[in-house]
Amino acid sequence: MTDTHNTLSFIKQQTEEATATATATQRTQSMRLTPPAACEVGRDPVEIVTSRMCALCTKACATRELGGRLREAGLRPTRQRLQLAKLLFSNGDRHFTADILHEDAMRERIPVSLATVYNTLQQFTQSGMIRRLALDGQKTWFDTNVSDHHHLFYEGDDAIVDVPDGYLTVTRLPPVPDGMEISRVEVVVRVRRRDESR
Ligand SMILES: [Zn+2]
Repeated sequence: MTDTHNTLSFIKQQTEEATATATATQRTQSMRLTPPAACEVGRDPVEIVTSRMCALCTKACATRELGGRLREAGLRPTRQRLQLAKLLFSNGDRHFTADILHEDAMRERIPVSLATVYNTLQQFTQSGMIRRLALDGQKTWFDTNVSDHHHLFYEGDDAIVDVPDGYLTVTRLPPVPDGMEISRVEVVVRVRRRDESR
């Protein structure tokens, strides 16, 4: 009886510690991935987009979870889709282009062509797993965070970060034609480095 009780207490303690560690890790990741814009002035914004966390993704459960996520989105979990999904979803939300994802894949020695990356991103977008961002320019940017939010785009540096909650509110939306409704309001605030020589 006492042994059983002790064992149960031990398991409970271990579980609580593991949960606390996981929560702390998540908090660290989200803070590092979505820092307040004001804190990043003067730093290299590209770091925000491409920085890597320690790999929770190496845990065995990650692939299984991603397989379920792909199936829920109506996609067969092929090896390539799983490998690319793992790069995209294992380290918190991120903004990326097809080129960035392809470079990540090459770095991780995942044999995938740029064309396949484009096709996969198309499928992920159509299934609602990721969102294509409304940015003009030569590159198409994607976001793993599909909830409604706004962005800061760093012109010249080719980097994009989320506007922190509470900083941008659209109050006077325009009327829309009969039979239409607003599906989403997405604001992009473009910033560039000041020309200090002027
Ligand atoms: Zn975003």
